[in-house]
Amino acid sequence: MFATGIGYDVHRFLEGRPLILGGVRIPHAMGLEGHSDADVLCHAIADALLGAAGEPDIGHYFPNTDESLRGISSIEILRQVQAVLTKKSVVILNIDATLIAEMPKIAPHLSAMKAALGGALSLPPQRIGIKATTNEGMGFLGRGEGIAAMAVAAVDRSDEF
Ligand code: MG
Repeated sequence: MFATGIGYDVHRFLEGRPLILGGVRIPHAMGLEGHSDADVLCHAIADALLGAAGEPDIGHYFPNTDESLRGISSIEILRQVQAVLTKKSVVILNIDATLIAEMPKIAPHLSAMKAALGGALSLPPQRIGIKATTNEGMGFLGRGEGIAAMAVAAVDRSDEF
């Protein structure tokens, strides 16, 4: 049966951290604050996939109270999410995502992000959409306080639900 899931995440900028988006390190004056590598795009995608599979969210599987997960690569989180899906015979059909940030420019990194995400999820890059937009200067995103990401996932589920 066909199923969909949605994911949303936001992380605030913090100086002294590398900026990792979609598994790619992007040159920027600031990174994102978080218990993991704070890859907001991976987190939104993880929640979309878990939702589509009828599973609890990323906070259930990777709680920010678990010290063993401090600094974990979010590409590794996606690998583990993919393993959860495979165990349930859930097959990913496609993923589409939007990054919302005033800075930095995302377009030069899109193909590297799709390759990294596709590698983690065993999904051809052409089944992964990533778009980027600004918040037109409005609100916390518009003031450049952080980056938000939205994602949807479509899957094929063999279980009865
Ligand atoms: Mg997050």
